[in-house]
Amino acid sequence: MNDRVEDLQKRDLAHIWHPCSQMKDYETLRPIIVDHAKGPYLYAADGTEYLDIISSWWCNLLGHCNPKINAAIKEQIEQLEHVIFVNFTHEPAIKLCEELTEVLPKGLNKFNFADNGSSSVEIALKIAFQYQLQTGHPEKQRFMCLSEGYHGETIGALSVGSMDLFAQMYKPMMMNNIHVKAPDCYRCPFAKDREHCQCECFKFAEEAFAKYAKETAAIIVEPIVQGCAGMRIYPPLYLQKLRKLCDECGVLLIADEIATGFGRTGKMFACNHAGITPDIMTISKALTGGYLPMAIVCTTDKIYDAFYDDYNKGKQFMHSHTYAGNPIGCATALAVLKIMKEEKILEHAAEKATYFHN
Ligand SMILES: *Cc1c(COP(=O)(O)O)cnc(C)c1O
Repeated sequence: MNDRVEDLQKRDLAHIWHPCSQMKDYETLRPIIVDHAKGPYLYAADGTEYLDIISSWWCNLLGHCNPKINAAIKEQIEQLEHVIFVNFTHEPAIKLCEELTEVLPKGLNKFNFADNGSSSVEIALKIAFQYQLQTGHPEKQRFMCLSEGYHGETIGALSVGSMDLFAQMYKPMMMNNIHVKAPDCYRCPFAKDREHCQCECFKFAEEAFAKYAKETAAIIVEPIVQGCAGMRIYPPLYLQKLRKLCDECGVLLIADEIATGFGRTGKMFACNHAGITPDIMTISKALTGGYLPMAIVCTTDKIYDAFYDDYNKGKQFMHSHTYAGNPIGCATALAVLKIMKEEKILEHAAEKATYFHN
């Protein structure tokens, strides 16, 4: 067994450039060869059992090798594995959009597909920019974001993040965005506490809007929890205030629910805590229960309608990804939604949260 592990590790390091790693570290910290997985457990080839509490990069929602999801994938793969999503469509995608409309914050009913979270953030930014251009606001070309936010690692997504660990050296490549000081309830500059405050820290957003809203297309936020910042939680009131201010200033609100969606914060979406509907929402990670790379940009009729016209008017959204709307991904996401409903995952979440908290 150990010969096999060593052999695989050697062959891994001969070729694989692992993400977010200094590869030299692997000389002493060998990559763990995962042999198989079940529920919350990973089983390594050397016999070690791991409890996967990082849920495979926050995306595994319903356990590894979930029999119901496995069955759904097997069924879909015999039917249709992939098809170009321009001019062609298929039932799993149609059904998925119908079901998402039921569970998303009210009003989000138009869907543009991508194949990873960062790409969906790029799409959200491009849609917001083009929306402003096509509705008489070509001067609104910039973006706002929260400090220590994280929205992925492609150039545009990095530009609306400010985790220097990921972004610092690429600054010359990036857009010049407006970074608003984010709520920080653990080190509140107003010495308030999260349960009782009036979001005094929203003043930083108000100041930024007063100065820059005229030239801003959209603000992007991770609602309720800034994940990469250290699971920094802030009050729903902040989002309510932000929704109102965005409406007043004609700035679109983009909620990046890639990490928070599908029950991760105890409600289906983090925006539900505030009872708000963003103009654009990005979802990925738990969307397929952590099985397949898929992301969706969800938006409203208001945004969609601004792109709807004769082709020669040039208002269409010219953006595509080869794997957009992949049928196996859609079938997987449908299985996830079905399990969440049948097994009352959300109802049990509060119970489990208490258990883990203790
Ligand atoms: C993971 C994540 C992304 C990026 O998604 P990828 O699929 O890794 O590109 C974007 N935003 C948030 C909030 C995330 O947690």
